[in-house]
Amino acid sequence: MRSILIAGNWKMNMGPAETADFFKQLDDAAQKEIEGVEAAVCPPFVSLPAAFSARKSGSAVKIGAQNIHFEDNGAFTGEISSTMLNELGCDFVILGHSERREYFGENDEIINKKVKKALADGITPIVCVGEVLDERKQDRHFDVVKTQTAGSLAGLSATDASKIVIAYEPVWAIGTGETASPEQAQEMHAFIRKEVAGLFGQDIADGVRILYGGSMKPANADELLKQPDVDGGLIGGASLKPDSFAELVAISAKQ
Ligand code: PEP
Repeated sequence: MRSILIAGNWKMNMGPAETADFFKQLDDAAQKEIEGVEAAVCPPFVSLPAAFSARKSGSAVKIGAQNIHFEDNGAFTGEISSTMLNELGCDFVILGHSERREYFGENDEIINKKVKKALADGITPIVCVGEVLDERKQDRHFDVVKTQTAGSLAGLSATDASKIVIAYEPVWAIGTGETASPEQAQEMHAFIRKEVAGLFGQDIADGVRILYGGSMKPANADELLKQPDVDGGLIGGASLKPDSFAELVAISAKQ
């Protein structure tokens, strides 16, 4: 049985003070261990230490990052490695987000190297895939997502593939207020699971969590999470406020 993962992608929002406030204000119920539900937030790098120290002791909310370099260390000015994130205690890292693909030139080959590096350092990659609006209009969305999935996961062992999380994020739904319909989400999630089965076998595909991302919020989370192949959400805007994040966790607990 796949547990639901509610992961907040804070993007370039929430400095250390705001991050500490978030944890102070976050309802205790959202921080409790809930069977079948995992919650995580991914603040900017500089806010990670604040997140770790402000998180209440015993809180079940996990902490992740939004990017890594694929090397351990060296002459890569401005970069951070998963070795460093591991030292901090990060559980997750978001990789291949469409904003990284669009603004920072990341392609499947780079993302694949990062996925392998995160796994080698014991950090769970949340690997993002998703089509832009034109690709959907041209009916190319399945091809695009197939290529991204195969490219990002190329060369992984089945054991490693069993540890990853995939996030389907239709780019036209990110930060736009427009959400994929539950049917559109389910259709693509089932497709991704089939692709994972083709690459790594049905057992791995049955266990891998596939999150939906794109304007998920308390008002639409229930119908999305009810879909059989939707195993949680990667949530931007609605994860920034402790109340709506807590609500998303509560909705997940009812599934
Ligand atoms: C995201 O950036 O991963 C995302 C899904 O953003 P939003 O929820 O704001 O659409």
